[in-house]
Amino acid sequence: MALINENFLKLPESYLFSDIKKKVEAFKHLHPDANIISLGIGDVTRPIAPVVIEALHAAVDEMGDSKTFRGYGPEQGYDFLQKKIIENDYIHRGVDLAPDEIFISDGAKSDIGNIGDILSMQNRVAVTDPVYPVYIDTNVMGGRAGNIAKDGQHWDNIIYIPCTSENNFIPEPPSVRPDIIYLCYPNNPTGTTLSKNELEKWVNYALENETLILFDSAYEAYIHDEGIPHSIYEVKDAKRVAIEFRSFSKTAGFTGLRCGYTVVPKELKLYDTSKKKVNINRLWNRRQTTKFNGTSYIVQRAAEATYSPVGKIQIQESIDYYMRNAGLLKDCLQKAGLQIYGGDNAPYIWVKTPNELSSWKFFDRLLYECHIVGTPGVGFGPSGEGYFRLTAFGRYEDTIESISRIQNWKL
Ligand code: PLP
Repeated sequence: MALINENFLKLPESYLFSDIKKKVEAFKHLHPDANIISLGIGDVTRPIAPVVIEALHAAVDEMGDSKTFRGYGPEQGYDFLQKKIIENDYIHRGVDLAPDEIFISDGAKSDIGNIGDILSMQNRVAVTDPVYPVYIDTNVMGGRAGNIAKDGQHWDNIIYIPCTSENNFIPEPPSVRPDIIYLCYPNNPTGTTLSKNELEKWVNYALENETLILFDSAYEAYIHDEGIPHSIYEVKDAKRVAIEFRSFSKTAGFTGLRCGYTVVPKELKLYDTSKKKVNINRLWNRRQTTKFNGTSYIVQRAAEATYSPVGKIQIQESIDYYMRNAGLLKDCLQKAGLQIYGGDNAPYIWVKTPNELSSWKFFDRLLYECHIVGTPGVGFGPSGEGYFRLTAFGRYEDTIESISRIQNWKL
């Protein structure tokens, strides 16, 4: 008899986006002519930069010619891309990495999920709350989360670190020591960031407590204020405690093309049960070479093109476009008297719902009174209750139209 991994049965259906869809459908049924604007999606809307498209075409042509055809590539990624990543994303920030510490993949989500393969089930995991749901769900699948509590929101073996306006969205080390902590900065969903000092505290905590930090910097390209680290390795000794996940999705519009990378420094050592230190880079390399056959050549050439001088200008144009949306939205929401967080160094705006409205009540009012769809904060975790996420990834024209509706809104 073949048995299943029963951890999968513990996972509740992911109701958030299907509930949103149902509510929007019900609204459309009542108001078929309403022009609904979605500021809820976490997907980009701008097309791929022209220079990246050119690189894709050129790589496709190479594949059609026996002289330049490529079959299986290195599972870790081509060194032309690893080297570009090191030169452009790390060296000028004072971070020295070797190509074999960079593992190219089909996106950050896969790596964030797969990293659990090389980590013991016995590890105690901590997350900031609210949180990108993948961190929790993949630990449920891996058997590290325990069981879901009666409130349907907390897993009893996960340590939740609330990040709310009360603590200025800065996570404090928990009273129970975690073996692993996920940190995501700039943060999805709150759009908030950590200063170098604040991140340093976490690195020092991890060094003292032998905690592994899984650092997700999928939104680092949106940072423009000085003093906010783009990489955790800008902090001294972070290579000894952290794995970093990066993505071309939000940086260069690759949500459909699929490319990301994970940095696993050779200095990072964890333990086996006999307390012997184990090199994690070697373990991840073994995992990848066995279970992954590499990101496609043409996509890696496309990713490489984002680092060309023209590529940098073109991808920055899209980031500026989204951040102009963020600035306009933020300004309008503040003028409407709402308390707003994020949106300065991230494409997400985290709204405190007024008059103690629940996240879902605010959702209903925004939908029925302004015909705008966003994401209820409670969908990202218990500390998201009373908050609401809006994204800057929409079209400029839609953002402008939303603003004029919000300006006339009687909250
Ligand atoms: N990490 C965070 C925090 C995200 O919000 C997302 C996507 O929304 C990802 C990772 C996934 O990135 P990718 O498209 O590279 O899989």
